[in-house]
Amino acid sequence: MAGRIVVVSNRGPVTVSRHGGGLGFHSSTGGLASGLEDYLEGRADGTPGYIWIGWPGIAPRSSAEKEVVERRLRGEYSSRPVFLAESEFKDYYEGFCNSNIWPLFHYFPSYASFESTQWRAYRDVNDRFAEAALSDLEPGDTLWVHDYQLMLVPGIVRKAMPEIPIGFFLHIPFPSYEIFRLLPSRCREDLLQGMLGSDLVGFHTHDYTQYFLRCVLNVLGLENDLGRLNLVDRVAEADTFPMGIDFGRFSDASGTGHVKGILSGLRQKTHGKKVIVSVDRLDYTKGIKNRLLAFDSFLRNNPRWRTEVVLVMVVVPSRGDASHYRQMRREINELVGRISGEFGSIDHVPIFFQYKRLDFDHLVAFYCLGDVALITPIRDGMNLIAKEFLAARNDGTGVLVLSEMAGAAKELGESLLVNPNDVEGMVAALIEAVEMPVEEQVRRNRIMRKRLQEYGLAEWGDDFLSSVASVHGARPDSAKLLLEGPARENLLAAFGAASRRFMLLDYDGTLVPIEEVPEAAVPPAGLLETLGCLAAVPGTDVVMASGRDMSTLEDWFGDLDIHLIAEHGASIRRRNGEWEPIRHASDEWKSRVAPILDRSARRLPGSFVEEKRYSIAWHYRRSDPEFAAVMAKKLVDDLMQFTANTNLQVMQGRKVVEVRSKGVDKGSAALETMAGEQPDFIFAAGDDRTDEDLFAALPEGAYTVSIGPLKSRAEFGLRHPDDLVSLLREMCAVYAARPET
Ligand code: UDP
Repeated sequence: MAGRIVVVSNRGPVTVSRHGGGLGFHSSTGGLASGLEDYLEGRADGTPGYIWIGWPGIAPRSSAEKEVVERRLRGEYSSRPVFLAESEFKDYYEGFCNSNIWPLFHYFPSYASFESTQWRAYRDVNDRFAEAALSDLEPGDTLWVHDYQLMLVPGIVRKAMPEIPIGFFLHIPFPSYEIFRLLPSRCREDLLQGMLGSDLVGFHTHDYTQYFLRCVLNVLGLENDLGRLNLVDRVAEADTFPMGIDFGRFSDASGTGHVKGILSGLRQKTHGKKVIVSVDRLDYTKGIKNRLLAFDSFLRNNPRWRTEVVLVMVVVPSRGDASHYRQMRREINELVGRISGEFGSIDHVPIFFQYKRLDFDHLVAFYCLGDVALITPIRDGMNLIAKEFLAARNDGTGVLVLSEMAGAAKELGESLLVNPNDVEGMVAALIEAVEMPVEEQVRRNRIMRKRLQEYGLAEWGDDFLSSVASVHGARPDSAKLLLEGPARENLLAAFGAASRRFMLLDYDGTLVPIEEVPEAAVPPAGLLETLGCLAAVPGTDVVMASGRDMSTLEDWFGDLDIHLIAEHGASIRRRNGEWEPIRHASDEWKSRVAPILDRSARRLPGSFVEEKRYSIAWHYRRSDPEFAAVMAKKLVDDLMQFTANTNLQVMQGRKVVEVRSKGVDKGSAALETMAGEQPDFIFAAGDDRTDEDLFAALPEGAYTVSIGPLKSRAEFGLRHPDDLVSLLREMCAVYAARPET
């Protein structure tokens, strides 16, 4: 990686605050900001530098103040601030991010509310972050965008600078499709498209990656191959990179005199009793209330532990304004009060509660204090606390009781895994934890500590960035050269210079977008005009090679002076001619195949059978894509068996399975239209499997263009049917503008 890393995250590395008349600058404290900073600062000497774009936590009151912040951030912290007005920040951050995406992605849909103004603010702010990135990015740099606040940034930057390697990492869970689809459809599509502006989209766990890919399939209709998606001119990939911690930092700190001093002070207060530690930000996802209920039940049902165990609970203030947070705080206070009142005495305090952030040394001492760490989020993208607890325990003791809903649980299977909604289960785990022999603690922790050491923060970051580079460099066989710039100019020049041209065009998905109901894909007047204009260019034959039946083609294109090929090559109507079958294929087999397709149509809602003259097709474009994919696979298997040793062929097209006679295909049909001719310009465009026959049959030198994202043998690609229609218009114009010879 030659260039720099341009990091973009909501919070920059520095938080600026106002003190009296002046400004204070200090490192940002969030888990993500400090983890990333450790990674970027800790990279080996000689690796490229970085610049970090983020919100500095302040809205400047004057341009002079803005300049001061910009200058100091750039000079001292290698950072560029993105300033946001307070109202803007409220709608974007407190609104769309934290009142919609956060609860939804953590499976709290009842806490989520969608408001259009907030969504607009989110889009605007993402634009602002992207603009800031664009003004810093130079060729050779890599862009690394972080988290749910900035999901649109990769897509915006990709449009402006297509050649930049881009990675996006989501630090929170990605939910299942059933949850994701609760977002309004325009918003779902934009978010997924935004993320897919990246070369690589990273998640903490395999589940999140899979959920994301399923959403991409269901919302955008894009299939993947082991996480890799074909996107017309490039590939994008989704993969799993569990974020690690700077193991040495925690492990080393626990041996320092300062931490030991803090620890011995804490031990005096807990009087040698068993200590359960618990620390989280105040958030409904963290399961603090259920944890207190479990502790309450543990004391109630286990009198012998009542005066032998204390819970030291730290809750870190966070996003304190929203009503859910205020209510949660009230409930926690009440529970702590009730448990302390019921089980406490002059000699024994069952809960030490602190509502305040711990600095690093106190946090490490706190980890060392715990005989048990009780970490039971209802849902958590990763949870670094669990990993830090283990790293700080150099003697290998301590029992980690961890929620199976935390991303970290996937790597920490030797901990006592609990369901955070199951209070009784948590009580059982607590009993097991306080009774666990030291040798057993050490045995379990040794395995987990080794894993954490081997895949730490540096490995995570390096792994992710090198994967961005390799996906960016990947140009699979299917990648097509977009018909833009010089490639397009050359094509137009060749069209203008030729004297005998053949334009072979598929219809559905190529000249018009695929419609859910096939009858709805009526050609618009502008398209008919363009085709007419093209056919009128002297020396030019236009061939419409479609899977549609004869009567539909006749209705729609009968008045144009073009060749029509129906049913993927079964019949042809030459320019000014009559319909004729290309081969005298039999159709008596259809009555035997139809019941097999009908059975699939009955089972898969939204699918239907279309019977044509020489073929029969099962369409499923309106059906659930996942169920349909399974049904299609089964159907193809059945049909393959049925048609073995016959003269029939089974074809899987775009959202269609079709059976037809062998030797009937668009390629053979197209060659027939050109028989006896000597074209010096052949152009073919298509979008699905049936068009591949056409591309394969054409002589060398033909221009082949595939529309949309599917793998293709075509040389060139275009994103959308509209792009093809404008290209055809340009061809007409090129001819019109040609100098008279
Ligand atoms: N942390 C801290 N002081 C505290 C509590 C937490 O510095 O009093 C840090 C902790 O070291 C960890 C981060 O905050 O790195 C919390 O990260 P985690 O993934 O566990 O939860 P998040 O807050 O990101 O949901």
